[in-house]
Amino acid sequence: MADWASRRLDELAPANARQAAAQTQRALADIAELMKPLTLDETGEPIIDPLKLTDSEWTSGWKADKISENTMWHSVADPMAEITGAGELSNPEEIASFRKEIQKFGVELMEHEGESLGYAPSLQPGKPGQLLISRGASYSAWCHEMQHMRDDMAAGWTGMRILSDVDECYRREQRAYAVEIALAKKMGRTDMVKRLEDNLEKERRRLYGVRE
Ligand SMILES: [Zn+2]
Repeated sequence: MADWASRRLDELAPANARQAAAQTQRALADIAELMKPLTLDETGEPIIDPLKLTDSEWTSGWKADKISENTMWHSVADPMAEITGAGELSNPEEIASFRKEIQKFGVELMEHEGESLGYAPSLQPGKPGQLLISRGASYSAWCHEMQHMRDDMAAGWTGMRILSDVDECYRREQRAYAVEIALAKKMGRTDMVKRLEDNLEKERRRLYGVRE
């Protein structure tokens, strides 16, 4: 490569990196709107945005023949952490607000060093479940698990029983991934959109027992 060309690249690269970082920051701030804390009515019950629930039929059939061995909604992975880093650093205020919401609703937050993320409904119907978060999880991954928690709450904390309703499990997975995909789109990261869509497809196959 000619000297001038490599010099030009040196000049361009930092600018591109700065631009990408600024775009990431803007997207993280914009998407925070999507996941703002739930509003409570005068009795302290959350007011759920009906738009988020349009696809759901909370009491749809009990499909005993499709009982899943899995006991939680979990994320296949956290690809967004690769570009945004830990949510605690990229969106500290939003994470602090999530923590308050988790505590307010009596959900047990389990943070650990491992890689698993997930939301496990309670064994007992009517009781809040447990949220499993790995240290360093991205803001996007937090939003995903928060969506699962809110869906369980909106359904009246149905407990583990819901896990046998494969269609409902898949609908909730779609809603949780929709938040992450919206965030990746805002960042202009089609590569991340693709990976998240692939992960959703993996979830679909796992839930319906489709072989790879
Ligand atoms: Zn999920």
